[in-house]
Amino acid sequence: MSIHDRYRLSAVINARGTYTPLGVSRSSDGVAEAVAQALPEFFVMAELGDRVSETIAQVTGAQAGAVVHCTAASITLAVAATMAGSDPRRIASLPDATDMHNRVVMPACHVVDYGHSNLQGIRLSGAQVDLAGDETRCTVEDLEAELDGPDVCCLILVSSRLTSGPPIDMVAAIRAAHRRGVPAIIDGAAQFPRVADLLATGADLVLMSGQKYLASPTAGLIAGTWPLVQAVRAQEKGIGRAMKPTKEAVIGVIAALEEWQALDRMKWEADELAKVTAFAEAAARIPGVTATVVPDPTGLQVSRAVLTVPNAHDVATQLEAGVPSIYVMTDRLTDDQLVLELVPLTKDEIEVILTRLWSLLT
Ligand SMILES: *Cc1c(COP(=O)(O)O)cnc(C)c1O
Repeated sequence: MSIHDRYRLSAVINARGTYTPLGVSRSSDGVAEAVAQALPEFFVMAELGDRVSETIAQVTGAQAGAVVHCTAASITLAVAATMAGSDPRRIASLPDATDMHNRVVMPACHVVDYGHSNLQGIRLSGAQVDLAGDETRCTVEDLEAELDGPDVCCLILVSSRLTSGPPIDMVAAIRAAHRRGVPAIIDGAAQFPRVADLLATGADLVLMSGQKYLASPTAGLIAGTWPLVQAVRAQEKGIGRAMKPTKEAVIGVIAALEEWQALDRMKWEADELAKVTAFAEAAARIPGVTATVVPDPTGLQVSRAVLTVPNAHDVATQLEAGVPSIYVMTDRLTDDQLVLELVPLTKDEIEVILTRLWSLLT
């Protein structure tokens, strides 16, 4: 009996990408096995923290790494680290940030909602946010104007397809922060495969979701400079207590990182592109459907299928209402477009999607 049947849960085919309300990603058998081995065991948790730091450093090229409960938690704790450092008194005072530099500078077009607003993720630490530019545009000069204000603790940039406006020159923005002695953090939650690019911008910390493209258990990965990563880990004796990782998540992250390192990236990318291309070709044979393959707008090495169909809104609703429920990306429905991400899907699941589209559209 499947786990869905046993607990009366809907069967799901997830073509919506690394989407939190659907369980995000599909871990490999190797990662699942490592997690199962960890659950009944005891560990010295500080040792697990040291091992995962070494593994993150080795895989990403950063000086050090840490794991917290999730990326939302890593945003709060990275900001806390820039305010309190490793000082036990300050760590114990947060979220009361009286007598600490507590102003976070962020481009207004990098305010994103991944279930809650990242502004709340920042404010949860006790910090306040100074937004630079507006929702349509933020220049490096706009950032400099805010960075010149008093009590700035860090600059936060978000690397995501959820941001608005033209892309910001991250390297120039981070240099502007560093000229003022302010550390820079990049939230790259759904961009684990781009970690090397994000670190190469000069960012002091890069934050990533383990459960998105790394397909580990839920975890927030932090890669960055040695002192700031130690300061993040030190927050576990303060507000980080409520955001600590589980032992099975840390083991799962190590296993997933090891698999990632062993992976033939070129072959993986070629196989994924072939999968999306074959799907788009098959979908284009359905009368009334046009299909294209589009690369991720932020440079993530993932392509998606875009299907233009009549009454896309109704089609998406009916895909979800069927058994199994099929979820596609719905941010382009007003253009009658369904966007599908196929990375975690099996051949059989892709067949089910095509069969359902045929029956709904013909
Ligand atoms: C998903 C996401 C988050 C939150 O990640 P969790 O690991 O679910 O907490 C934060 N920022 C961005 C840009 C995201 O896409």
